[in-house]
Amino acid sequence: MNIILMGPPGAGKGTQAELIKAIYPIPHISTGDMFRDAVSNGTELGKEAQKYMEAGKLVPDKVTIGIVEERLAQSDCAKGFLLDGFPRTTVQADALNQALLKLNKKVEVALNIAAPNEILIERLSGRVSCKECKKVYNLSYNPPAKTGVCDICAGEIIQRSDDRGETVAKRLEVYNEQTAPLLDYYSKKSVLHNLNGNRDSRVVFEDVVKILESL
Ligand code: AMP
Repeated sequence: MNIILMGPPGAGKGTQAELIKAIYPIPHISTGDMFRDAVSNGTELGKEAQKYMEAGKLVPDKVTIGIVEERLAQSDCAKGFLLDGFPRTTVQADALNQALLKLNKKVEVALNIAAPNEILIERLSGRVSCKECKKVYNLSYNPPAKTGVCDICAGEIIQRSDDRGETVAKRLEVYNEQTAPLLDYYSKKSVLHNLNGNRDSRVVFEDVVKILESL
């Protein structure tokens, strides 16, 4: 199954991706995670990406498309993939189409998770995660039992630098300007499914499963 997860920052794409991959054995490809790993490993890609990420801007298309094309050509994507956070621009969506055509594949479903802006801001500003196992918490709704310590692996709890103040506002603005137009793009291809993300993640996931099972 070839799935893309769409929606603004904070809508719950990462949470749904975790739930989906527990049922469907397909690789979860998050461009945000790939960039964050590159930043923490201090690679050239990481150095390039970091300046855009910290400003809440998109990493240039050429760089982003390159890493996704490389990833999709790997053998574990043969039976499908779950793209999270890509594509984010029309140029990326066109490049994805071309890359998939060469592999004799196409996007089969685009899941769009939506939520009101004030909810997104509240979620992003309370979002923290474990530095080690990456488990995500929210300081308001779902805090770790012991402050600063992961319930699962006792790793250190950190906040993403781009989940702070002005960067959150910039990321939402960039989403509305550059990524929201893609909803029309995938709607025209008849693969778009809209989900109300302003609900408990388990309830959203029930809808996700219904959609995926209907394919
Ligand atoms: P995310 O974890 O998906 O919210 O992504 C975090 C940051 O990584 C974004 O704010 C961008 O700076 C960068 N990023 C992730 N995916 C993309 C993409 N498809 N195109 C450009 N930049 C991206």
